[in-house]
Amino acid sequence: MALLDQILEHNQKFVENKEYEKYRTDKFPQKKLVVLSCMDTRLVELLPKALNVKNGDVKIVKNAGAVIAHPFGSIIRSLIVAVYELGADEVIVVGHHDCGMSGMDPERTLNKMKERGITDEVIQTLENSGTDLHKWLEGFKDVTESVAHNVSLIKNHPLIAGDIPIHGMVIDPATGKLDLIVNGYENQK
Ligand SMILES: [Zn+2]
Repeated sequence: MALLDQILEHNQKFVENKEYEKYRTDKFPQKKLVVLSCMDTRLVELLPKALNVKNGDVKIVKNAGAVIAHPFGSIIRSLIVAVYELGADEVIVVGHHDCGMSGMDPERTLNKMKERGITDEVIQTLENSGTDLHKWLEGFKDVTESVAHNVSLIKNHPLIAGDIPIHGMVIDPATGKLDLIVNGYENQK
């Protein structure tokens, strides 16, 4: 059975059996917290358990590497919505060891695209129009530095209020151990 069919078959039973009932809550984070983290598969269940958050406690924003690629991109916009519209009072950026974004080789990724049929012409056209694909596909060298950098970007963002603590942590994707990188209570502007 194709994956999509498996999902739909499961879903029908999930709803019929009212398995959703134990997850019922509302859109406002009870712990008044928004977390920015990585899409890594090991963190899907581990991160909430390690942070002791469950459905209804927190807003979680995820992407590859828990990084902010643009000061007015969708990550910052999500944090702004969480803070101003949904009542989040604190932000935690959680990077992790062994992150896929820490070993990114833009040239390798571009070659994989070419193997899948993306033409040189398309890549050249994008680069000629001012999109630096190499820079865009580049990850980070050190997760601790990356977390500190992203905390700083949020903290210094002109649209983020100064009284919101912005914390930074790195999680071990094997054990769930959290190392504190930035204590946001100490860096309020
Ligand atoms: Zn990652």
